[in-house]
Amino acid sequence: MTEGHLVAALEEHVLIVFTGGTISVSPSRDSNHPALGGAQLAGEISGFSEVPIQTVDLYRAMSESLTFPHLHKLVTFLRQAMDQPAVRGVVVSHGTDTMDEVSYLVDLVGPWSKPIVFTGAMRHNELVSADGPANLVNAIRVADTSASIGRGVMVVMNEEIHAARYVVKGHSTNVSSFSSPGAGLMGSVVEECVRYYWSVPPCTNSYRLPALDSWPKVELIRMTLGNSGLFLRACLAEQVDGVVIEGFGAGHVPEFLLPDIQKLIDAGIRVWVVPRTASGHPLYATYGTPGSEIGLQSMGVQMEEGPGHKARIRMMLELAGKE
Ligand code: GLU
Repeated sequence: MTEGHLVAALEEHVLIVFTGGTISVSPSRDSNHPALGGAQLAGEISGFSEVPIQTVDLYRAMSESLTFPHLHKLVTFLRQAMDQPAVRGVVVSHGTDTMDEVSYLVDLVGPWSKPIVFTGAMRHNELVSADGPANLVNAIRVADTSASIGRGVMVVMNEEIHAARYVVKGHSTNVSSFSSPGAGLMGSVVEECVRYYWSVPPCTNSYRLPALDSWPKVELIRMTLGNSGLFLRACLAEQVDGVVIEGFGAGHVPEFLLPDIQKLIDAGIRVWVVPRTASGHPLYATYGTPGSEIGLQSMGVQMEEGPGHKARIRMMLELAGKE
């Protein structure tokens, strides 16, 4: 086990990077911070010996409190790990609340030459039926198999393999809270068998990770019935770099907010509209009614795939530029 840095190892292994989250929570040891790191969690799965592992404690944070420096540290570390010949694949042990955003960001700054698999737990270590150890073992199996190379970053929870590109957390407590709406499971892990049903198209984005002091300022605003437009005007006043709007249905906004949106565009602020529905694509050419996609695009708005919180990550990287 190492504290935040890599040691050269001769034996091929799966590297597990611990970052905190529920999987590391142990209230009787420390109720304020994720108390468990690599040493303790590797101990939980000591009966699992199919695959040699090494562990690293990168940070211990709850995932809602992650900041851009954390993300830099993670991506920089993963890049170093890819260069280690003995590393077959990497598991990132992570809080579940932002696992879909963080794994998506890591996917977008790829491509990665070896499997990167995020996992975590919905039920902490001291609850009956804690799911962390089983998730960890399944994630190690996925990271260890050569069939996982070239499939993009993945999330493994509850015996299911999801593409980071499509996965979302959809339930606050259920162990089965991750799904990939519209795309479906990419695979599953049953007993020790990793099965894949399909592959994501190769990642061609190669987004650059923004410099630490220049992360674009992008806000996410959800449209609601009778929306006041207050947040749109705040974004104009703050001169943010971009705004992602979760619009009604396939991406519609109230007619009475169009002047506020036009002001953002006139000020050079990038505006994307995504559907606020849990699944489905935006429309581009179906509705011409005020506030719908045809008029929005003629104003300079881009219609984009949701969900909003992942579109926001994509817009930040897009504004920062490609390699
Ligand atoms: N909010 C915490 C986090 O995301 C706990 C959620 C979890 O890990 O399941 O780190």
